[in-house]
Formats: sequence, C-alpha cells, structure tokens
Amino acid sequence: MYKLLTPGPLTTTDTVKEEMLVDHCTWDDDYKSITQKIRKELLELAHVDESEYTAVLMQGSGTFGVESVVTSSVGKDDKILVCENGAYGARMAQLAKQAGKNVVVYHEEYSHVPDAKRVKEYLDADPSITHVGMIHSETTSGILNDIEAVGKVVKEAGKTFIVDGMSSFAGVDIDVKAIGIDFIISSANKCIQGVPGFSFIICKKSELMKCKGNCGSLSLDLYDQWETMQKDGKWRFTSPTHVVLAFAKAMEELKEEGGISARAKRYRENNQLLIRRMRALGIETYIDDAHQGPIITTFFTPKMDNFSFAEMYEYIKKRGYAIYPGKVTDADTFRIGNIGEIYKEDIEKVSDIIEEYFEKCCGGLVRQTA
Ligand SMILES: *Cc1c(COP(=O)(O)O)cnc(C)c1O
Repeated sequence: MYKLLTPGPLTTTDTVKEEMLVDHCTWDDDYKSITQKIRKELLELAHVDESEYTAVLMQGSGTFGVESVVTSSVGKDDKILVCENGAYGARMAQLAKQAGKNVVVYHEEYSHVPDAKRVKEYLDADPSITHVGMIHSETTSGILNDIEAVGKVVKEAGKTFIVDGMSSFAGVDIDVKAIGIDFIISSANKCIQGVPGFSFIICKKSELMKCKGNCGSLSLDLYDQWETMQKDGKWRFTSPTHVVLAFAKAMEELKEEGGISARAKRYRENNQLLIRRMRALGIETYIDDAHQGPIITTFFTPKMDNFSFAEMYEYIKKRGYAIYPGKVTDADTFRIGNIGEIYKEDIEKVSDIIEEYFEKCCGGLVRQTA
C-alpha cells in the first residue's frame, strides 16, 4: 500500500472508495437524481448559473472530455488556435488534427506561460480563427497558465474559449463566467478527489447549442450526450455507476472540507512546504515561483554521479509514497504531486524519506545551481 503523489488518479478517502461496494441500477430515478445533483453542484463550483450554463458528464478519462468538446464545438468551417506549452496542449492540438479540424498551434516554451499578447497577434493575423483552446494547469510541468489574461483577449475578439481545467478545477478557484470560458473540462479523478471513469464539461448553453450535428463521433457527441442527460439525468450509454457514486461522495466531502477555498489552501500549503523542503536539499524547481502552480511540481534531477530516478522511486515507494517521473522534454526532472487526500504530514514524511535516500544512497545532500 502506498499513497499517490501523482496528479490523478490520486489518493482518495476510504469513504469514497466504500461507495463503490454497491452495484447500482442505471435507469431508476434514484440513480438519475444522483447524476442531476452532480450536474447542478458542478455549476455551483464553477460560479455559474443554470440559466446560462449546463454541465455534461461524459464516459471515459479526461482526454475523452477534451476530445468531445473540440470535435463537437469546432465545425468544419471553423479553426481552432491551440496554445501549447506542454504535453496536454500538444494532445489537444493532436486530437483536433486527427478529427480533421482546422488547427493552428501557438507553441510556447514548456517553462513559459502562453502570452496573451501573442494570442492577440494570432487572432489579428488570422480572422478565420473561431476558437481558442488552452490548458490551465499544465500538468506536464506544473505551470499555472494565465486563463484570465488570455480569456480577455479571446472574448474581446468574440471567439469561443475552451479551457482544459483538468488538474485545476476545484483545486484552484475558477470564476468561469467572469473569465469568459465557454467550455471547461475536468475529470472525476482530479481535484474533486473521485476515482477515474468519467469527465465533465461546464458549457455555456449558447455555445453548446451550436454543437448540434458537428461531431464526427457518435459516442463523443457533446450535444447528444447533453440532450439525453438534460431530460431526466439518463446517460446515453452505460454509465460508470460505481465511479458516479464515489464522485457524489467526493463532492460531499469537498463541501465538508470547506469548499474550493479550503481545498485550494490545503493544496497550496502542501505545495509550498514541498518546495521549501526540496530546496533545503538543494533541489530546484523547473518552473519559477511566479508561475509555479499549486498542483504538481517538476524538480530538476540532482546532479550526482550515482543518482538514479528508478532507484529513488523504489526507495520512496517501499516507504509509502508513489512519485512521478518527469515529462518535460528539455531537462532531466522528476515530479511530485500534492493533490488528493494528502496533508502536511505526508509532505513532511516524503521529504524526510527523500532526504534519507540522499544521505544513505548518494552520500549526502545535493548542491546544485538550477
Ligand atoms: C489528467 C489530465 C488530462 C486527462 O488525461 P487522461 O489521461 O485522459 O486522464 C488532460 N489534461 C490535463 C492538464 C491533465 O492533467
């Protein structure tokens, strides 16, 4: 047994896991009302009103949700500008291209946030761009992108704004309406602290209505999924019942914790403590402090002759925690996530384990310049 210091799936509570011990029927009113309650409460978490927005649940992992939005919203005469500063931005561009959509990619360094000024230049230069897609918390590096600044530019230009809020939604407070987001996607196994199995999308209704008939895929059709679910809470195809029950419990527990502000504070404090402890060991962050997000942190691999990530990973895992390999392409790094059912004590403990590993296995503390 070990706790996950990874950015989803993440460590859930026993009470969330226990919800999955029941086999629930999908077509009865009980079950449909659970779906409806989840949809309603997701809107509250996004600070939006039912008169203007709606929530759709979609089977599959987070990528299925992003693919559903992009393939349903970007029509054949439309064009999407994807701001890419990590693997998830690249994935959004790839799935759009693979679906035959018109795509322009604004590539940014993985250690930099997409610049709103550059986005405006793209939009000014190419009026045929109708949609802008970007990632909020780019889990590849842990950077928190500026959706407010980019959203402002996108809205001024009158374009549709799609945000992958997968690893930030409910872990960072997002005022969806104020920012001007038309579609924001997240999934059950990220900051709401459920288990993997479905994604959810908060949609501006006026934009969702334009999706009708656009999607080349039957199962990922966002409009059709909404139309069926909107009637009485029925999912179009078999829904992940156990995951839905666990998610409903996770939503309750989020409320009990004190809502997004309390959870965001816990995550932020976990993150700051982790960075402090790693710096004391001489391990630096890949992202600078001004742009580091509170979800996951990329650390440079210590510059020691005998350092091995695989060995360190095993050492830490044996003592109760699973960390993450690096994903940025331009440096040797590893990642530690701090979301899920993770508290200060866990961060202190994993930091102690890492410190002990360096002392025992690498002959002392690391000194490096980032
Ligand atoms: C987790 C995540 C996704 C979804 O990835 P899946 O493997 O489909 O769950 C998408 N975007 C970001 C930023 C993520 O962190």
